[in-house]
Amino acid sequence: MRHFKSGTFARDTMPTSVRPFSPHISLTGIDQVDLQALWDSGKRLLLLDVDNTLLPWKAKEVPPESKAFLTRARELGFDLCAISNTRHPERLTVICGLMEIDFIRDKFKPSRRMYNAALEKYGRTPEQTMMIGDQLLTDIWGANRAGIDAIWVRRLGKEEFIGTRLVSRNVEKLLGTVLYRYFQAEEADVERRPGFFRRAVFQQMVKFAMVGGLATAVDLGLHNYLMFRATSGGMLLRERVELWAAATFGLSQDTFIHPAEVAYPVLKIGPVLLAILISYLMNRWLTFQATHEKITVRQVVQFYAVALVGMLISITAGSVVNAAATGSVQANWLKGSLVGMVAGFIWNFNVQRRWTFKKGSEQ
Ligand SMILES: [Mg+2]
Repeated sequence: MRHFKSGTFARDTMPTSVRPFSPHISLTGIDQVDLQALWDSGKRLLLLDVDNTLLPWKAKEVPPESKAFLTRARELGFDLCAISNTRHPERLTVICGLMEIDFIRDKFKPSRRMYNAALEKYGRTPEQTMMIGDQLLTDIWGANRAGIDAIWVRRLGKEEFIGTRLVSRNVEKLLGTVLYRYFQAEEADVERRPGFFRRAVFQQMVKFAMVGGLATAVDLGLHNYLMFRATSGGMLLRERVELWAAATFGLSQDTFIHPAEVAYPVLKIGPVLLAILISYLMNRWLTFQATHEKITVRQVVQFYAVALVGMLISITAGSVVNAAATGSVQANWLKGSLVGMVAGFIWNFNVQRRWTFKKGSEQ
């Protein structure tokens, strides 16, 4: 179970081993309860869990949604009764006073005692009653044991009694994975998927392309500087590299590779590595918003590896299209370059997003 979902549970079809823990309906909050429908279906008594259902754990003020819910329920004619096994009866008295509802405090849920006491107090049958609570192992199980239908609401806050947090919620997660197999999401509650241009992935694509543009500009600008402006010992850096290549590898005008052809790739290494680093940092910060995670060697190496493979793909795809195209030399160059760029982008964006920045892009 990864997310709480609103909907209906097909209790009849689920294994009897999990049925006692299954609510009839799950809702994201008490304000989502369709009181009119409950009334129309014959319900007259609402049993309400307090902590994290009506108000956050330990809170002393009643949220407006809960107040509105209670007011509406009262208007329709429901009997309302809080049932709580709190160890702080003073607080329970105060907050139920604020909410103007009765309460029953007794043995721990899922004991049937409080449920049965409430039925007796209001002279209602289980069929006329509905329990609303945030915990499967107490509220919902207890209701089922007493033969009362139950609505499971998403807990109001993450703060909870430590036993609840450590034990009940983990068991709940396990139960949830089974229960949700018998689940029908509520039509109205299914959020409409935003259009492609408003989706996170599209926005990431735009940012990734912007970062790519910036990195390319850095690469070209720096390479241009190293080739044509940077000097070393009174001569252009490019010429020094040519001399070095000639001396080290014995290159000359007669060898397969001329000394003049060496400067371009050699002086390209630094700018490319720097451009990839900038691209990594910018994408981490802007595109995938992963700055809360530590920079790891693994991730940086991964990013470089993916980027370098991307270059190979780009060059290969571009070369193939350039060779296969049948227009003028310039037109073929343009087609090859565009296809190469698109191929590199598709590779880089998808692999960096789904692999290198897996965590950040999943949100
Ligand atoms: Mg609760």
